[in-house]
Amino acid sequence: MSKMWKVKSLYYGKINVPKGVMTAGLDPELMIDIPYTGFLLQNGEENILVDAGIHQDNIVNGCAWGGYKAEGGNDYVLKALAKWGLEPKDIHTVMYTHLHNDHAGGLALFPDAKTYFQRDEYINLLYQVPGQMVRSDFDKRTPGDMKVLKNIYQIEGDLILPNGIEIYKIPGHTKGSMAIVVPTKEGRFIITGDLPHMNQCLFPKQTKMKLLDGSEVEVTSAPDNMSPYLFNSVVYDHWEAYDSYNKLKAIADEFDPKYFLTGHDPWVILKETWG
Ligand SMILES: [Zn+2]
Repeated sequence: MSKMWKVKSLYYGKINVPKGVMTAGLDPELMIDIPYTGFLLQNGEENILVDAGIHQDNIVNGCAWGGYKAEGGNDYVLKALAKWGLEPKDIHTVMYTHLHNDHAGGLALFPDAKTYFQRDEYINLLYQVPGQMVRSDFDKRTPGDMKVLKNIYQIEGDLILPNGIEIYKIPGHTKGSMAIVVPTKEGRFIITGDLPHMNQCLFPKQTKMKLLDGSEVEVTSAPDNMSPYLFNSVVYDHWEAYDSYNKLKAIADEFDPKYFLTGHDPWVILKETWG
């Protein structure tokens, strides 16, 4: 079994939000399209999918979370897979960085795959506090969709698999968020999920970012008192989030932006392949 992997980013649609929502209030006026992302991991024998996008029912009158303009749905997931010559039945394993509505919306497309998520994430999905329901962080459909899954690996904490993939629990954005580390010939890439929505969350002094259309914009570099990490608007536990940011830093080959494939940063879609 090859332990050297290739990573491909998958475009599952987009949502138009103020950048400030993602980066602790920096650039509140700058409206940007951010992608719903997934990843395909391949080692020549196994196809692993990370995250499954938003379900179309969560886009009402063209708007999704927070009432912001969005597009996406299961068709986007199918199209993203087709681009690489794959159908849902070709996916052996699906791993969820977390179970928010824009990451688990296509869950029922993969009933036969081995499915990995953290136990704490599942517990929170079942027992939500009112604020999570008002804001519809999770998709109402997800607990029902889970019933079609035939092979669930509910895990707690960190796990290194025989195929070389590493899983690290990084709570904060949600109770059971996890990062997935993929070894490739170009180094180990870290799929972070939404703890850092964007690379600037990990590297607050960043002064430019790429937009989905390939252009570049200037962004506000964080003042020193906002370092070392920028939190986004959805953080279930700030103390855990801070520890998890440190954990992401600790598990990286090097603390370099190129190794962090963050949850909603357009550059991840533009670059498309690693390894
Ligand atoms: Zn999320």
